Amino acid sequence: MNNIELWQAALGEIELSISKANFSTWFKNTAIISNENGKVVIGVPNGFAKEWLENKYNTYIFRALRNFQNDIKEIGCVIYSNDQAQVANEVKKMDSAISVSEKQIVREISDKEVFTGQQISSEQRQSATVQENNINSRYTFENFIIGENNELARAACYAVSQNLGKVYNPLFIYGGVGLGKTHLLQSIGNEVLLHDPSRRIKYITSERFANELIDSIRNQTVNDFKAAYQAIDLLIIDDVQFLAGKEKTQIEFFHIFNALYQLNKQIVISSDRPPKAIATLEDRLRSRFEGGMIADIGKPDLETRTAILKTKAAEKNFYLDEEAIIFIAENVKSNIRELEGALNRIIAACEFNNKLPTLKFVEQALSEIISSGKKKGVQPQHVIEAISQYFNISTKELIEKGRKKEIAYARHVAMYLMRGELGISYPSIGAQFGGRDHTTALHAYEKINKEVETDEKVREDVSILRERIYAV
Ligand code: ADP
Ligand code: MG
Repeated sequence: MNNIELWQAALGEIELSISKANFSTWFKNTAIISNENGKVVIGVPNGFAKEWLENKYNTYIFRALRNFQNDIKEIGCVIYSNDQAQVANEVKKMDSAISVSEKQIVREISDKEVFTGQQISSEQRQSATVQENNINSRYTFENFIIGENNELARAACYAVSQNLGKVYNPLFIYGGVGLGKTHLLQSIGNEVLLHDPSRRIKYITSERFANELIDSIRNQTVNDFKAAYQAIDLLIIDDVQFLAGKEKTQIEFFHIFNALYQLNKQIVISSDRPPKAIATLEDRLRSRFEGGMIADIGKPDLETRTAILKTKAAEKNFYLDEEAIIFIAENVKSNIRELEGALNRIIAACEFNNKLPTLKFVEQALSEIISSGKKKGVQPQHVIEAISQYFNISTKELIEKGRKKEIAYARHVAMYLMRGELGISYPSIGAQFGGRDHTTALHAYEKINKEVETDEKVREDVSILRERIYAV
């Protein structure tokens, strides 16, 4: 196998284990430059790719390469191009064109960015403009089912859609994953456009906002970027918790926010937790958020889950009797995305097996769904990666001996999930964490297990992380 074949084979493996968007963003235009004495050097087009490959994808690359050449001991990356000089020049030009604080933003993101499955490839990013409103017609107030858990949030969103900039500004909606935040936010956009298609609306996730900001810094179009935002009537920022820890990005956001606010433009924000619980949120931003209306979406009760299932089944022209519906609603409790997922899989199972959805069939199908989800090849590495992304700390810090409080907490949660979700033994968990003793893992498990009962924040962290682990 020559280097080209080796890299092609390894890429084939890596592609299977990470998201498409990440794969195309970070592995495009890469090649093996040398492969000698167990050391493989990979050429990458820029510093961003170098950092990501070395820090985040290191283990994937290592594992993939070792499948085909088992004497590989070390990998490294270099920035390369057919015309090295040109690249070096460009980097210099970019550096001198960017002010210090802007550089810091670029660094903030490239160092720590928590990219979820929604991350977009760089091509997509370049073509995204502020003119595109990103409103998806699938999400409307009409098909949003009202329950006790979401009544207030829904009412606030609806009121805002009828009186842009006048009633609640900003409107801040928070709640756990899969509970309908995006649905509600998007509904506002659809409702406004229904009555006045000329309104300028922008829906954007905070991650994407940060990425657009960086692109504009790189392309030296920051002023255009800000101007475009200031021309908007309704700005919807989804999942704002991702701005945590990105101080410079927050400051830019704050300026845009203020400009819109002063012009009486409507701002709607969502987050997985209330403003005061977003660690390292700039104070000015936090108090702005708190100055408006804050509404939460809680977990749906049995009645709401039943109503949602009925509606969704009817929308899909699928008949399920009352007993079966209640059985599903009783067993899938955590959120609505999961509820929808369970329904879809039951429909697929019925079609595939050519069976009617009797209670017995549904019981059986659901038990397979639940357990296959649990066992679906989730590896300890997934847990470690999910944790390190969520808490914004490197996997190295997580595994090593450091005793900093936040890191210790993240580590305990990781151990808890490995035990509780993956059923890994305590000694083996200890081994995954830099050869710690099995009692450390045991204590971590017991500690978090207790805190989940008593501490809302811990419960929320664990529930979000559980989702993420299975979302791979
Ligand atoms: P979040 O943004 O809070 O993670 P989403 O808005 O993406 O959650 O909701 C997950 C799925 O559940 C979506 O398909 C959404 O349409 C659906 N959903 C959530 N809440 C409701 C509701 N009250 N009525 C109907 N569908 C809902
Ligand atoms: Mg969402």
